[in-house]
Amino acid sequence: MSDNVTRIAVVGLGNVGYWTTTALGLAMLGGLGGDCDIALVDFDTVDERAVRKGYPPWLLGCQKAKAMVAAIDAMYGASVSAAMHPVLAAAQSAPGLLADRDVFICVDSLGDAQFVSSRARSRWQCRVSTGAGGLATHCVEVFPPDTAALGDVYDDAAWSQAGRRQSCTTGQPARPLDGAAYPIGIVAGALAVQAYLNRAMDSAPYRLQWTGTQPLRSDLWGAAGKAAPCRDLGLDNRATIDRVWQDVARALEVDPDDLMLTWEAPIVRRHCACRSPYLGFERYPVTGRCPTCNGRSILVSASRELLPAEARAIRCRTLRSLHAPAGIGLGAVTRDGRSRRYRLTYRPEDVPPLTGNAACYQSAQSTEGLHA
Ligand SMILES: [Zn+2]
Repeated sequence: MSDNVTRIAVVGLGNVGYWTTTALGLAMLGGLGGDCDIALVDFDTVDERAVRKGYPPWLLGCQKAKAMVAAIDAMYGASVSAAMHPVLAAAQSAPGLLADRDVFICVDSLGDAQFVSSRARSRWQCRVSTGAGGLATHCVEVFPPDTAALGDVYDDAAWSQAGRRQSCTTGQPARPLDGAAYPIGIVAGALAVQAYLNRAMDSAPYRLQWTGTQPLRSDLWGAAGKAAPCRDLGLDNRATIDRVWQDVARALEVDPDDLMLTWEAPIVRRHCACRSPYLGFERYPVTGRCPTCNGRSILVSASRELLPAEARAIRCRTLRSLHAPAGIGLGAVTRDGRSRRYRLTYRPEDVPPLTGNAACYQSAQSTEGLHA
């Protein structure tokens, strides 16, 4: 792929993700020159709430990643929308995609945001969020390449508190603008893209927070340092566990029995009514449902570490048959204490399908929330 291509991923296409992508489309018409390759990552579908935040009503029920491309096409035309590619998955299913792209992190969950941030550590990244107490808050946190990852410096206490503020009498979220018709992500998205266009001028991480009429720019401190090198194994999800194991052992010049691998996602066994219950990598969103029968399943085991004996039991299985995330990373540790990081090659066709029935899962979750 050409080095002149600006490679970007927008992860999460809710309120701020929608408006960040819209601002990016606008930037492509002007300041963001040259070829762009923009991956739009989301597993969700457009619901009524998403329509109130910005999605055109005619896209109700469509998958957000595809709907976003359609909305961009309607706004700016095919010359812009052709550069945008939908990825119908959670970020955790496509880690290899994030390793060589600048990222706009537009997911709500701090854990998801940290996952994306750590994968894109060597790239420019920006966490985009909104919050609302009495006044709407727009917040962008910008990390130039090879500065600290989100997990090292993020002020998670402040934001998790903002996310949990609830009325003590009704139990309803006490964030008046949450779910409001007015798309507050529009400001945060514009600020984020503005930061991207100015990225050559920044070398240290910073946060720009805008509450009411009060802008506040502050430095973010953390363990700044270059991302640990991650070697490309030159294999993709067609490879077997055995092939990965042998190649890593050869690269580290170690006996295969003196090697342990730590994957970015856990390998799980689930028990359900099927004749052959699920064995494979756990994929997001985790629904607890069996991918085959869609029935509820019980988690039997889950481990990111794979030891030689366990690897032998699944040695002939390909990563694809185990539903490995596309371009998954792994750490290799040898018995004599050496370690190295590797990544498999990302291919769009290796992004595993969504697990179970996400829609069912979400409605079950909200029902449980009411009973709690
Ligand atoms: Zn099943």
